[in-house]
Amino acid sequence: MRPSILNALFAESSSLEGVGPALVRQLARLKINRVVDLLWHLPVMAIERVVTDRLDETLVGRPVVTTLTAQNVEEGYGKRPLRVLAADAAGTVVELVWFGQTGAWAKRLMPLGEPKIVAGKLDRFGQSLRMSHPDVLAPHQAARLPMREPVYPLTEGLTNRRLAGLAANALKRLPGLAEWVEPSVLTKHGWPSFGDALRQAHAVTGGPQAQERLAYDEVLANQLALLLVRRDTRTRKGRALVGDGRLTDALKARLPFVLTAAQSRVGAEIAGDMAQAAPMLRLLQGDVGSGKTLVALMAMLSAVEAGAQACLLAPTEILARQHAATLAGMLEGMPVNLGVLTGRDKGRGRKELLAALKSGELDILVGTHAIFQEEVAYHDLGLVVVDEQHRFGVAQRLMLAAKARATPHLLAMTATPIPRTLELTNFGEMDSSRIDELPPGRQPIETRVMAPDRFDALVEGLERHLSGGGQAYWVCPLVSGSEDGDEAAAELRAAFLKGRMPDAKIGLVHGRMKPAEKDAVMAAFAAREIGLLVATTVIEVGVDVPNATLMIVEAAERFGLAQLHQLRGRVGRGAGKSVCVLLRSGDLTETARARLALMRETNDGFRIAEEDLKLRGAGEILGTRQSGEAAFKLADPEAVARLVGMAHDDARLLLDRDGGLEGPRGAAARVLLYLFEREAGVALLRSG
Ligand code: ADP
Ligand code: MG
Repeated sequence: MRPSILNALFAESSSLEGVGPALVRQLARLKINRVVDLLWHLPVMAIERVVTDRLDETLVGRPVVTTLTAQNVEEGYGKRPLRVLAADAAGTVVELVWFGQTGAWAKRLMPLGEPKIVAGKLDRFGQSLRMSHPDVLAPHQAARLPMREPVYPLTEGLTNRRLAGLAANALKRLPGLAEWVEPSVLTKHGWPSFGDALRQAHAVTGGPQAQERLAYDEVLANQLALLLVRRDTRTRKGRALVGDGRLTDALKARLPFVLTAAQSRVGAEIAGDMAQAAPMLRLLQGDVGSGKTLVALMAMLSAVEAGAQACLLAPTEILARQHAATLAGMLEGMPVNLGVLTGRDKGRGRKELLAALKSGELDILVGTHAIFQEEVAYHDLGLVVVDEQHRFGVAQRLMLAAKARATPHLLAMTATPIPRTLELTNFGEMDSSRIDELPPGRQPIETRVMAPDRFDALVEGLERHLSGGGQAYWVCPLVSGSEDGDEAAAELRAAFLKGRMPDAKIGLVHGRMKPAEKDAVMAAFAAREIGLLVATTVIEVGVDVPNATLMIVEAAERFGLAQLHQLRGRVGRGAGKSVCVLLRSGDLTETARARLALMRETNDGFRIAEEDLKLRGAGEILGTRQSGEAAFKLADPEAVARLVGMAHDDARLLLDRDGGLEGPRGAAARVLLYLFEREAGVALLRSG
């Protein structure tokens, strides 16, 4: 349970004084729902007020504080605001204007002839100086006026002053918290305490140290949580699986090629993990086409040799079926039973499959999330392989662990190379293996960037390619920003291309189609009954049609680099030379140009991923942008990259040397985990 010391912070925003339903709604638009969210809502900058007793032209555009005496009040009417003409010490007259107020109101605020402190931005309006909606205070209240005013991100109807007031109230609820950062780290960096750092960050007086400390706290919480998950997995009951080689050797003997050195090395790493009783948690990274599926199959066969079952979890229906077909092909004639299960499988076939799974007759199950539903019972699940890991989050990985009796070994595969910093922040609980070599003989894909005025020539080239027996993909742009809703663009494009190329066989796949329809189109494409496949990004991951050697990506600049790299990986899978055309839009920013140029220049997935991280942030690479998983509230990507190594070491020390969460620093760290809502780690420790 959350330490009670934090309860006041996790209360709803409406628990703050003066926060009614209307304000609650406005705050919610800024994703502020609880008091703690106000703490994380930091000002982006501060404006310095100029204190002066003489207003002049040079101060126009700046926030000023000065003493003014009202001389005249003019009622507003229609679109004209209420005006108060007031003079400074030198007699310079400035108009103070308010919309929606009356002269009587103004005379109470600024009685004629009485000097008042007036604060606001000085503007010019025609020939005169003007301040709109300034703050007016009595002279003895001047000290209350902050000389630096923090500027908060706002939403319509919410003023900066209001938000600053709420933040101040939220800060009052912040209890004194014991220090969780290693004292030597604090001294070395000159960091303030957490509370001081937060107060300074809100007042914008703290400078870089306060910001850095807060970012560090968040990254530290993240690292601690992942290490706790890791430690928990290590102490769970697992089972050593050592195969006798009868199946893996047979498979190797019948392959028309030899394993690459990288495949062998990674295979040995996996076998080493599986030979331990502590469950494996390993991330297998390898660029598209590097041969991950084979490595995974070897691991699954080892598990089967050792008398256990294995399953392969794919992110989509199409991929599950494709994997099942590929694996079944490789296993043909071998004494291994393979089944496939997706949400679509119903009725008798499904019943029989489930029975075979439960009795142990089935050795390998391939499927979508359906393979982890309640009623799916394994006889003895020893290994779980998750394909295209980036579509699954930490929460799902934990769910998998909970499913089996003894925790199975887990191998997660991703074709998106993951930069080191992201690996730590998102897969910090896992070991990692990299296949950094492609099978020999692959022809590099040629990437071309094409301007829109070449569109007609492009379509002609495509037509020649198709009429010569070639196959191609045409990927349509992200219109709505999500996979859903893009089908309209794809439909339009398919119809247009049909009009231009009446002889071509054109198919269409998009996210809204029923799985069976999608499969049918994909199958027809694989069987060469379809020449051109017009698609949305549903074909991004894993789809394998070696005869397709041309890919056209429309409005390529709208895609993430890692995503383009994934798409491009759909071609270049056979012996033929492949071309990827990135069709760009007319007006491109410098950055967009540079990004497309990088795609043309390199096929190195790791390099592309590093660039993408710099340009677009972690969510794009991991595909978790929408789910919000692993989102950092205070630490920006640069800060994460800078701090994660140190936080990782610090978290390790805390867990290994300082008695985990039990010692005094541990108790403080527990609060930290709850504060940043990474308590999944704590929960595991208790239940484990
Ligand atoms: P990934 O899943 O990593 O993108 P795949 O496992 O789908 O890659 O492999 C791509 C293709 O390369 C498949 O057709 C596979 O049979 C083939 N392949 C795998 N390993 C090798 C190898 N060592 N030598 C030659 N071809 C290989
Ligand atoms: Mg694959």
